[in-house]
Formats: sequence, C-alpha cells, structure tokens
Amino acid sequence: MRGLMMDTQLMISGLLRSADRNYPDREIVSVTADNPRHRYTYRESFRRTRQLANALNRLGAEPGDRIATLAWNDYRHFELYYAVSGSAMVCHTINPKLYPEQVAYIIQHAEDKFIFVDLLVVPLLEALADQLTGVEGIVVLTDEAHMPKTALPNVVCYETLIAAEFEQFEWPEFDENTASSLCYTSGTTGNPKGVLYSHRSTMLHAYASCLPDVLGLSGHDTIMPIVPMFHVNGWGIPYGSLLVGAKIVFPGPKMGDGETLQALIEEESITIASGVPTIWLGLLSYLKESGKRIDSIKRLSVGGAACPLSIIEGFRDEFGITVCQGWGMTETSPLGTVFSLKSSNKDLPADEVAKLQAKQGRGVFGIEMKIASPDGDELPWDGVAFGALKVRGSWVCSGYFRLDNASPLDEDGWFDTGDVATIDPDGYMQITDRTKDVIKSGGEWISSIDLENAAVDNPKVAEAAVIGRYHPKWSERPLLIAVKNAGTDVNKEEILSWLSSRVAKMSLPNDVVFVDELPHTATGKINKLALREQFKDYQFPD
Ligand code: AMP
Repeated sequence: MRGLMMDTQLMISGLLRSADRNYPDREIVSVTADNPRHRYTYRESFRRTRQLANALNRLGAEPGDRIATLAWNDYRHFELYYAVSGSAMVCHTINPKLYPEQVAYIIQHAEDKFIFVDLLVVPLLEALADQLTGVEGIVVLTDEAHMPKTALPNVVCYETLIAAEFEQFEWPEFDENTASSLCYTSGTTGNPKGVLYSHRSTMLHAYASCLPDVLGLSGHDTIMPIVPMFHVNGWGIPYGSLLVGAKIVFPGPKMGDGETLQALIEEESITIASGVPTIWLGLLSYLKESGKRIDSIKRLSVGGAACPLSIIEGFRDEFGITVCQGWGMTETSPLGTVFSLKSSNKDLPADEVAKLQAKQGRGVFGIEMKIASPDGDELPWDGVAFGALKVRGSWVCSGYFRLDNASPLDEDGWFDTGDVATIDPDGYMQITDRTKDVIKSGGEWISSIDLENAAVDNPKVAEAAVIGRYHPKWSERPLLIAVKNAGTDVNKEEILSWLSSRVAKMSLPNDVVFVDELPHTATGKINKLALREQFKDYQFPD
C-alpha cells in the first residue's frame, strides 16, 4: 500500500524561495578580487540570482547545459550555484589550481557551454584559449571598472551581463533527480572523473549536514566555508546555510591567509568555519605569532585529510574550540562521517575525547558504511580489523559522468572508497590509509597516516609525509619526509626516538629526510604522487 503524502520534489530553487521568505535580511559577506568586504542580504542576493537566471536564458543556455565556474568563494559564485542549478542547468565547478592541461581536459570532457571566471583566473583561461573551441562565451566575475584587457573571444563582464535583466524569474519545476552540479575528482592517476550531483542528493545532503551532531548549523550561526566552492560544492555549506538562515562569510581568494581569516572571524563574529587541516595549521601558527584571538568560534570542521592531534589540542587549549573532523569524498557529496561525542562517552577525560576527534568520525544517517577484507568479507567493528572502506547512500555517486563503462560500484552496489579503515565498537571510523598509500612491508601493512600524525605531533615538525620506498628485504619500507617548524632544529635520531614511543617498532621509518616544503595538491592535500616522483631514485641507507 502506498502512503498518501504529497510527492513534492526536492529542488535547490525551493531552498532559495524558502530562505527568501524566511530570512531575507540575513547577510552574506565576501572578500573578492575587486572588493575587500562586499556585503549584502539574502534578499539582494536572490534578486541578482534571478537576474542571472534571466541572463543565462538570454545567452541561449538550456536545461542540461554545463555552465562552468573557475572561481573562489564569494557572492557571485554563490549566485551562480543557485541560478544555474535552479534553471535545470548543471553548475560545473572547476578548481583553478589544477594543472592547466587538467582544466582543459575537464572543460572539453564536460562540454561546458559558458565559463564564469574570477578576475584572478583569467590568465589561466588565456593560456588555454585555443583549447576552448566548444565554449560559446566567457563571463568575467567583476564589474566594468575592473574588467581586464584580454584577447579571449566572446568575453563579457558579469555585472554588465545581469544589470539590465528582470528581477523576476519563475524557477522551473522538474524531476528532483535532474543533475544540478558537477565536480571532477582531482584524480592522482589518470584523467579526472566527473561526479554528477542531483537536486535530490544535494537537498538530502543539506538536511543531513545541518543536524546538531553533524555541522550543527543553526540560524544563529555565522559560517565561513574556507573549503573552496570548487571542492565538492563547498562541502554543501552554500546549501545548508540557506536551509537554516545562517549568515555566510566567503573569504574569496584569501583562503590560506591566516591574517585575513582571523580578521574576518573577529569582525563578523564567525561561529563555525570549515576547511582542510593545512588551513588550520596556518591559522594556528598565525594566532601564536600575533597573539590574536578568535573567540567567537565555537566549532571548526576539518576534513579532506587526516587532522593531526596537535591541531585538535591547539585549538582546544588556547581557545576552547572543538575541532570536528569529518571524512568524505567528491563521490560522497562529501559527507560520510563526522565527529560527535556519543552520550555514553560524555564523561571521558579531555585527552581521550581528543583521541576520538583524531579519528574520522561516526557515520551520518543516510550513509551506510562497512569495511571489507580483500576477499570482500565484511570485517568486525572492533577498532582493530582494517579493510577497504565501502559506502552506499542517497548522496553517493553511482557512476561517473560520461564514463559508462567504469562503474565504481561492486556487485552488491557498494562504492569502494579506496580508503582503508578500522571502525570501533562505538562506530568511530579511522582511516588508516589510502589503498595506494599503504606501505606494504613484507606481509604487513603500515599506515602512512599514523606515522604522519605521530610525527606532526612533535612540536618541532610543521608538516610530514610518509611514502613507501623500495627495500631489498621487505619490498617496501616507510620514508618520512618532514618540514621543520620555523626557528627550530631537529634531526633524524630525535624524530625516530619520538616516534618509537608512539608507533609499533615494525612501523618505524627507515629514514627521515628534511625538506623546506612539501608539495600540495590543488585541494590542499599533500601530493604523494609528486613526492614519489621527487624521491623515485631514493635508496635507504644500508
Ligand atoms: P576528495 O575527493 O578530493 O575530497 O578526496 C577524498 C579523499 O580524501 C578520501 O577518500 C580520503 O582518502 C581523504 N580524506 C577525506 N577526509 C579525510 C579525513 N578526515 N582523514 C583522512 N583522509 C581524508
């Protein structure tokens, strides 16, 4: 028997309409290339979003067309999110920090019809001009006063494009499974692959992300997504914020700049901010140096890479801030697991809680997870057994855009994340490695993440990465590559002695090498592929 409830569709434009009615005066503050503090209300934002939707129609963009963005986190990018998806087109966010060849590949593979590009990213497109043959027009996200001189064809200025448009627009109704946005995984091997989100998956993800034990977002909050909007839809924050009417602060191109972030937090009384660990390391060291504070912050959400204990303890001890680590991927929209303290754990001492925070978190309703042995057998949640982490749920991808032959699902419909993890009896999942980063020493697996976390907990180490290198006896052994903290000195023996009380003897790196900096991927993670290349001729000392 079917239930007798309305079958209304979960639409991104519905979010816009609801927020317009309920929270018209909430603010959106942005740093942009052409304005250090742009400020307006939801009402003004949605008016311009409707103008943009009219402009897209006038340009000849049609439902299903891919409209690309190469942009930082700011109000114009936010308007694009809603105008494009709301018009049944696909908002294709592209990471401007990718290699130019990857950007060209992605634009061609997606067959983007128009590209909306940040002022600072115009030179990247200029360098690719001869590869943009399928693109009908380029819109620079700025006003006339800041329009650059460019030889790119069919270029218009964003503010001019929308200025004369009607402020009214009837958002079309369509099936909630219609594609809404597209994001290519940065792909460490092979070509990037496109993950195509739907209105339904985006809305369900938005509901889940706001829950108290997830992001805990409310209308009283001011949230700053430092995670880029080109990285898995800014972890869904541009949607979740409208669901509850939170004030949003977009840091624009200043995402890695501790000084700007601190100033924004103080001036705008930000309560929640989210970003990758590198951002928090940078902010923490800026706060230490400057003696400045960020007292309005209640919670920092961190994900995208393992968060060292030193970040968790640093923010806890100095500022009383809870760091909530989450795990996810482009393919999971990205929310998979997030830290929240179980009621049964509420009396744990602070250091035990911090250890739980350093795990990747507990599953969010809407995502099922399991760990499996190489034979595919499900492993116990005992915190010891580790295996391939598999997930399924309404916001997990079932295929890649235009790669029909490459199903990412196993025969039972689970998505193999490529991560290796344990899950403890309380449901806290802990990533022990990426399948391809695990160091296979003899018959044993060594977690590169465990070693990196233990190394970074040393106050003299700023950043660390571990890769497996050839070893004649063990086939692979760990090599630790570390960056010293400014003004400190430390040597190999000191690091090995530090590690020996923190990791199993068999996991101890065979060597420690110091470098001035580590290479990072376009999404801020340590680029192990580049490191492997850099150390490809490395040989362990006898
Ligand atoms: P991406 O699709 O670029 O967001 O990358 C997703 C991958 O980042 C995951 O499969 C994990 O390997 C890694 N990742 C994400 N969050 C975490 C985390 N909290 N700790 C460790 N690794 C993470």
